[in-house]
Amino acid sequence: MKVAVLSGKGGTGKTFAATNLAASADNGVYVDCDVEEPNGHLFFKPQVEYTESVGVLVPQVDPQKCSGCRKCVEFCKFNALAYAAHTLMVFEEMCHSCGGCTLMCPTGALTEKVRAIGQVERGYSEDTLVLSGFLNPGEESGVPIIQKLLTMIPDNGAVTVLDAPPGSACTVLETIQDVDYCILVAEPTVFGVHNLAVVYELVTLFRKPYGVIINKYLSQDNPVTEFCSKSRLNIIGSIPFEQELGKKLADGVVVARHNGRYERVFKEILDRIDEEVASSHEAGAGIKR
Ligand code: SF4
Ligand code: SF4
Repeated sequence: MKVAVLSGKGGTGKTFAATNLAASADNGVYVDCDVEEPNGHLFFKPQVEYTESVGVLVPQVDPQKCSGCRKCVEFCKFNALAYAAHTLMVFEEMCHSCGGCTLMCPTGALTEKVRAIGQVERGYSEDTLVLSGFLNPGEESGVPIIQKLLTMIPDNGAVTVLDAPPGSACTVLETIQDVDYCILVAEPTVFGVHNLAVVYELVTLFRKPYGVIINKYLSQDNPVTEFCSKSRLNIIGSIPFEQELGKKLADGVVVARHNGRYERVFKEILDRIDEEVASSHEAGAGIKR
């Protein structure tokens, strides 16, 4: 079972929920797809056993073969190429790796080379497999790193928790495309409702089964509970607003491993998701795309 954990913005407790859910499963898998700000490894502190650089293809020019025709410059819609002073310049950071300029070049002056944009890591933290992606600062898109991470997930039926990037950008779409269930994490405030609505719209567009976890929960009477009730969103769990929890989080502790009460909270959420995924499959709700 693959479960993605989403939130409309950072800082709502998405990584907290994702790490504790993965740690509460037997031999669970945690995948940190929040590649711009990966924090899961700070909690798991995995023993890293494998790293791999991730790159994208960008053009390189052989000046001896370049005739200066500018066909490549005219073709590139991303302004990643310019021709001036008898020289073709490549602005690699602006290139979207479409490969079109290389195909357009009539003299064979353009070839492709790999440009590193980040890396992936695989390691273990107790019995949890931890896969993490890291996008280099200043890089535009973490999609290639997420795609690499998804290929590293073992096909052994283990509960796999994907920690999605915040918001609803293309990196989130990449993360959730093959999951069985989406968890939407929200704080019980008016802003929390706004952020929840962002990811709620996304999962309904993708026709994914989903449920809401309310983080920092104090009482039933809050804007997010009201929104869920009105919009018929299923609340599958709530994390209490407690001082002890905040302290453990600040210390970088996976609380489910140190406190049986919190472990039960996350195990119950996993059980509930398991039931919902099974019934969705039975109902043929089009979970697998
Ligand atoms: S590969 Fe595509 S995006 Fe990159 S420079 Fe060539 S045409 Fe532009
Ligand atoms: S298309 Fe080829 S030959 Fe023409 S300017 Fe670009 S690199 Fe040079």
